Amino acid sequence: MIRKLIGRLLRRPLAPTPQMRSHAHRYRGAELGLSRAAMSSAAQRTCEGLHKAGFKAYIVGGGVRDSLLGLQPKDFDVATNATPQEVNRIFRRSRLIGRRFQIVHVLYGREVIEVSTFRAAQVDAETDDHGRVLRDNVWGTLEEDAARRDFSVNALYYDPIADQVLDFHDGVRDMKARVIRMIGDPATRFREDPVRLLRVARFAAKLGFTIEERTRAPMRELAGLISNVPSARLFDEMLKLLLSGHALASLHQLRAEGLQHGLLPLLDLILEQPDGERFISIALAKTDARIAEGRTVSPGFLFATLLWERVNALWIRHRQAGQNPIPALNLAIDEVLDAQAGKLAIQKRFVADMREIWSLQPRFERRNGQAPFRLAEHMRLRAGYDFLLLRVETGEAPAELGQWWTDFIAADGPGRAALVEAAPRSGTSTARKRRRRPRRQSDQGGPTPRPDGASA
Ligand code: ATP
Ligand code: MG
Repeated sequence: MIRKLIGRLLRRPLAPTPQMRSHAHRYRGAELGLSRAAMSSAAQRTCEGLHKAGFKAYIVGGGVRDSLLGLQPKDFDVATNATPQEVNRIFRRSRLIGRRFQIVHVLYGREVIEVSTFRAAQVDAETDDHGRVLRDNVWGTLEEDAARRDFSVNALYYDPIADQVLDFHDGVRDMKARVIRMIGDPATRFREDPVRLLRVARFAAKLGFTIEERTRAPMRELAGLISNVPSARLFDEMLKLLLSGHALASLHQLRAEGLQHGLLPLLDLILEQPDGERFISIALAKTDARIAEGRTVSPGFLFATLLWERVNALWIRHRQAGQNPIPALNLAIDEVLDAQAGKLAIQKRFVADMREIWSLQPRFERRNGQAPFRLAEHMRLRAGYDFLLLRVETGEAPAELGQWWTDFIAADGPGRAALVEAAPRSGTSTARKRRRRPRRQSDQGGPTPRPDGASA
C-alpha cells in the first residue's frame, strides 16, 4: 500500500501537461438548454452523495454531451476526486471494477453509474515504441482529468448541485459548431491511445459532426497503430461502435477516413468483399434500427452476422468437397473462429452464442418428422430464426423457408403438424441417413442457457 502510494507520488507529473488548462468557461445549465430533469437522477444522486462526503463530483462525457444535444444519453459517468475505495465506502450499493485502473459502479435498481477518479495524463508515461501509453493510473486534479479526455465535446463537466457546466477545452464552442476536436496535439493523442481513431469515427457518425481538420489530418497515416492495441480493449471499443445505433454510418466514416485497411482485421475482411458488404450492411442497418427502437442487440448475434460471409464461403467449399452439411459447417466455424481469435478477442460467451446461431442454420432446412418440433424447443431458437430471416433478406436463404418457419413458430399443435405435412421433403443426406442423432449436443456446439442474451 505504502509502496503503491510512493509509486503514485513519484509518477505524478511535475509540470502540467502541455494541453492542460486551469481556466474553465462556466455556464449555467439553463444557458445551454440543459435541464436537470433530463439528467439521470441516479447520476445526480451519486454526485450529491459525494458532495455530502466532502468531495467534488461531476457528470461528464456522453451523459453531458448527449443531453446538451437533446439526445438520450446511453449512460452516465461521474468523475470525482474521491478514490475508488472512498467511493465504494460512501455508496452501500456499489462495487469496485477493474484491476489496472479501478472504477466504481454505483447501482440504482437497474441503472449503473460509473464513477471514476480524476486522472492525470503523465508527461513521462511509459509508452511502447509507437507512443502508446502503457499505464495511466495516476490520480489527478479536475484540470488534469479534463486534459486527458479525448475530444473537447467529451470533456464537459456538469455539477448538478450548482447547476453549472465547466468547460476547459472549448467544448461548448465545438458543440455549437458541430465539430469533433481532439484535445491537445492530435497525432500525439492518437499515438497514446490508437482506439481514439475508432472513437472519432463513432462520435462523428453518432452525432453527425464533422471531424476538425487538424484532428483529421494524421488519422490516415496512423491507422496501422490500431494493431498494437491489446485485442480485448479493441473488442470493447469495437462493440461500442457496433452497438452505438450508428454502426453503419460509423463504418462508412472509417472508410471515408481511409481507416478500413489494417484498422481492424475484421473490418478489412468484411469491407473488402462486395457480397459480404451487402450482408453486413443489411445486418448493421437492422441492428441500428433495433437500437433506435430501444430494443437490445446481443453481441453474439452481431458478431455472428459480421463473420457469416466467411463461415458460409468455407461451408460451401467443404460441402463441395464432399462433406456432409453439419460437419462441414462445424469445420468452417472452427476455421473462422481460429483465424479471428488472435486479432480481435471476442469474449468466450459471445463466441459460444455465435457458434450456436450458426450451427442452427442447417437445422432449419430439416422440416420433416420431429426435427422442426425439436428445433422449436431450442433455447436459442429465436436468435437462430432471426439470423435465418437475415439470410432470407440478403437472398442467401429461400424466402419460402423463412416464411415456413415464421408460420411454424406462430402455429399451434395441429397447425404445426399440417405445416410439417405440407413441407417439401428434406433433401439433405444427413436427414435421410441419420434417423436418430447420436451426438446432438456436440453437433450443435452445445446449447448454453443464457436468459439475458436473446437477440429477438
Ligand atoms: P457513449 O455515449 O458512447 O458512452 P462517451 O463519450 O460516454 O460516449 P465512453 O466510452 O463511455 O464514451 O467514455 C466516457 C468518457 O471517458 C468520454 O466521454 C471521454 O471523456 C473519456 N474517454 C473514454 N475513452 C477515452 C480514451 N480512449 N481517451 C481519452 N478519453 C476517453
Ligand atoms: Mg459513456
